[in-house]
Amino acid sequence: MTRYLAALALVAAGTASFRAAEPIRYRFSFPEPQHRWMQVEATFPGITQQTLELRMSRSSPGRYSLHEFAKNVYDVHAFGADGRELALTRPDSYGWNAAGHGGAVTVKYKVYGDRVDGTYLAVDTTHAHINMPAAVMWARGLDDRPSTITFVPPAGARWQVATQLYPGDGKPTTSEFEFTAPNLQYLMDSPAEFGPVAMRQFAVGATHFRFALHHTGSDAELDRFAQDAAKIVRQEGGIFGEFPQYEPGYYTFLADYLPYADGDGMEHRNSTVMTSAASIATSRTDLLDTVSHEFFHCWNVERIRPQGIEPFDFDRADMTGELWLAEGFTQYYGPLVLHRARLVDLAETARTLTGLIEAVRSPAHLARSAEEASRMAPFIDGGRSIDRTNWSNTVISYYPYGGAIALALDLTLRDRTDGKTTLDDFMRAMWRAFGKPGGARPGYVDKPYSVRDAEATLAAVSGDAAFAHDFFAKYIEGREVADYARLLARAGFTVRPRNPGRAWLGDVRLDTRRGVRVSTLAAPTWPLYAAGIDQDDELQQVDGTRIGGDQDLQAVLQRHKPGDAVSVAFVDRTRVQKSATITLAADPHVEVLDAGTLTPAQQEFRASWLGSKEIQ
Ligand SMILES: [Zn+2]
Repeated sequence: MTRYLAALALVAAGTASFRAAEPIRYRFSFPEPQHRWMQVEATFPGITQQTLELRMSRSSPGRYSLHEFAKNVYDVHAFGADGRELALTRPDSYGWNAAGHGGAVTVKYKVYGDRVDGTYLAVDTTHAHINMPAAVMWARGLDDRPSTITFVPPAGARWQVATQLYPGDGKPTTSEFEFTAPNLQYLMDSPAEFGPVAMRQFAVGATHFRFALHHTGSDAELDRFAQDAAKIVRQEGGIFGEFPQYEPGYYTFLADYLPYADGDGMEHRNSTVMTSAASIATSRTDLLDTVSHEFFHCWNVERIRPQGIEPFDFDRADMTGELWLAEGFTQYYGPLVLHRARLVDLAETARTLTGLIEAVRSPAHLARSAEEASRMAPFIDGGRSIDRTNWSNTVISYYPYGGAIALALDLTLRDRTDGKTTLDDFMRAMWRAFGKPGGARPGYVDKPYSVRDAEATLAAVSGDAAFAHDFFAKYIEGREVADYARLLARAGFTVRPRNPGRAWLGDVRLDTRRGVRVSTLAAPTWPLYAAGIDQDDELQQVDGTRIGGDQDLQAVLQRHKPGDAVSVAFVDRTRVQKSATITLAADPHVEVLDAGTLTPAQQEFRASWLGSKEIQ
């Protein structure tokens, strides 16, 4: 009860207009959940605009491509202040305009949704999994209005709501199904799980956490999983030295581990949505990795926020050049924290390091920098188009790209200072400068950062502006790859060739369905590329051996060594017969291994890096 009152006080304090402006009222009901649609009724009182512009979002916070949520909305009817139906006009594919309303509009519509993940709406007989931008029609110009949201369960269903929305609607008669959002930004950032939610609560110091789970497993599994989530929370709290002030008074993990879910994790200010078709019993480490990644976001991206996505624009794809830091550094810390919390072993951590280094060594780093890769998010983060792209050669995902940069920066800082300065210090400095100051309105960040701010923070933390400038110029704005072998050696890890001495002509795969065709785009660093061979070309002979599939190619490579020249006969996709000579290279792929026997200095370096950092 105290928390509920505190939350309402926060609403009142956070929005000066809360008492002045009448809230927008949303009502969600489910007449036919088996048919996967939700009935929405939204009332906009006190309208001063002649025409109320109703919109469905084109994008969703934390997802950078367009999802065009208007496509699932139908049976739209609007009514004016006197209850008469209004004739709606369509200014574009995403909007409905209501004129002649007399100062209030109630719009009623159906919205279909059948995808359990962090972006969409999913309705069925077991639950309603609601991402607000996929469900909610909003009105232009009313961003600062609070809204109330009423969830109406299907007849006979014993559903409850888990969400970061503020509990209650400000009235004494409030029910467990009534919630409040202080403004549009906060509403859109507040997903809700409405179903048979199992809830576990824990506190770290004075900060409260809830783990809300919809799954098909046992209570004992949930108990243990929530305990592991608490370990992660304590480790990440230790990195920043404190937890943010969660606006409703607590942070909520919303997990749907259901056979019909799509795998996803989506961050929000005071909650996260985590979905998976896997179960706790079978995929514990993967699911904990998502917990670790998403919770780190309550600092990094939700509050330590890049300028390009603050405030979030629901009318377009939001773009920023800093996702290498917002997502990439989070990608680095997720598995690192699992190790610090002793939820993964050294072999698993070595595999994670291999993945980061292999990603940043991809030839694609020659085409786009980490900053440029970040700006590709609207196309690659769930974006859809039907034409072929050459992204395998030109874009590294900013997740592992930024993760590899975080690894290089952490080890470089530790290397320079013998462990006295670390990436944890950088993150804490970013938190204090840009996250902790918060926002005048709930759900807003008043001091989002630019890439120059991040560089200046590194200069301050390292005490060396030239070092900071050089690091950003080389690895973030430039195309260089750090010397991971040297850096990791300090922590007792070896970076070595995955296939020492193996001849290689590229990571080529063959499709044998129509002839023997190259099914992969050739990269400029491959010997195959130099020979003029690319995707869809038909490989006939290599070194005199007829090629019938991948095994034949491997057999040829095995009898050669790097530097050997082999002849190739192929038919290009315009059906012209060609031949070429390929000079085989050494397989460039590497792996990270525990060096085994460590010096005392290596042991100390590793313990400082991978050891527990629990908040006190
Ligand atoms: Zn993320």
